[in-house]
Amino acid sequence: MSKVLIIGAGGVGQVATYKCAMNPAIFTDIVLASRTKSKCDKIAESIKKDLGVNITTDQVDADNVPELVALFKKHKPVICLNLALPYQDLTIMDACLKSGVNYLDTANYEPLDEAKFEYKWQWAYQDKFKQAGLTAILGCGFDPGVSAIYTAYAAKHHFDEIHYLDIVDCNAGDHGKAFATNFNPEINIREVTQKGKYWENGKWVETEPHQIHQPINYPNIGPKESYVIYHEELESLVKNFPTLKRARFWMTFGQEYLTHLRVIQNIGMSRIDPIMYEGKEIVPIQFLKAVLPNPGDLGENYTGETSIGCRIKGIKDGKEKTYYVYNNCSHEVAFKETGTQGVSYTTGVPAMIGAMMFLKGEWKGAGVFNVEEFNPDPFMAELNVQGLPWHELHNIDLEV
Ligand code: NDP
Repeated sequence: MSKVLIIGAGGVGQVATYKCAMNPAIFTDIVLASRTKSKCDKIAESIKKDLGVNITTDQVDADNVPELVALFKKHKPVICLNLALPYQDLTIMDACLKSGVNYLDTANYEPLDEAKFEYKWQWAYQDKFKQAGLTAILGCGFDPGVSAIYTAYAAKHHFDEIHYLDIVDCNAGDHGKAFATNFNPEINIREVTQKGKYWENGKWVETEPHQIHQPINYPNIGPKESYVIYHEELESLVKNFPTLKRARFWMTFGQEYLTHLRVIQNIGMSRIDPIMYEGKEIVPIQFLKAVLPNPGDLGENYTGETSIGCRIKGIKDGKEKTYYVYNNCSHEVAFKETGTQGVSYTTGVPAMIGAMMFLKGEWKGAGVFNVEEFNPDPFMAELNVQGLPWHELHNIDLEV
């Protein structure tokens, strides 16, 4: 019997809960807890209706370690999937250590008052998880997550050395709104307004936001303007694959999106520091989140697809070779299956597979791990079964 506890009832939490319920042989008991219990209940109701599976729901403030410990004590899960926000990573890891629960997340820790994400805070838990005999799996969504597993798979099967890595992330979907973000708006805007950064010849190169861009052709989609931004998996990948001479992350943005983003920044709505408004302290970006469309609700009219993959150049048997591995995910198909759009889907499915890898004993070890440190093969096989099939192309023009 394997009990899983999922924290966070947003779009990603909804997909992961659905997918766990679709794999009852592994996930025999599922608990979904979040700050707002009514959101958990709504997801549980639709899972009961669609799949006939019962989910237990609960309420928790994941910023509060004693509350989390009480929640773990009550439900006694084997593993906790943290699908709340990056701000909660450390409190949930602390509570896991106090309660003997294993841990998985999809985004690395970010302090609330500083738009800066890096692994140092979570890597610092290495010894504590080791001593407790517990496993912490970091960054098990799509990117980070599948992007790093693709890289590990390529390095294991197709190269003797990988030299150039370009992770390319395209969302060619249309949700019909003038402006909306595909996952939590606060986290998304903090991420995409940062300076660009990539790895080259042993050091980080910083750029202005969106400074480097070019059109890239995506399968089944065509050319889309793509921008080099900093993305968290680069930090662990250059550490775990030291042969990399260059590692970059590209994301597509439409002109409309970038114009809205510029206006939001220029008028101060992306500020993360508190300001006084009518005698009350508010944080502009949090207020903005409250008025923007909820990413979890974008699914109904979302058309088009996402395409995310890794374009890799390196050496095999003394010869240079190129390799491209990718998945395309249809927003409509994702919505039909789980009631949410493709970005939540491409994140929630890998989170479930990561938990499955742990529960099946495919991924094991005491300590804190980034996903590329595990065997990619069983995970790659499950991607094909669980709704995110991948395709590979050899010796093509990588364009980047
Ligand atoms: P949402 O904002 O839609 O959902 C977050 C959920 O967490 C909400 O239900 C929210 O509760 C809950 N929550 C927030 N704070 C707390 C708290 N203190 N205690 C308990 N619950 C809390 O986000 P998404 O579903 O879009 O994203 C979830 C995570 O996935 C984020 O960390 C995001 O960065 C990550 N992500 C990762 C990707 C990847 O590929 N690796 C891609 C996309 C997202 P409430 O409803 O009450 O606000």
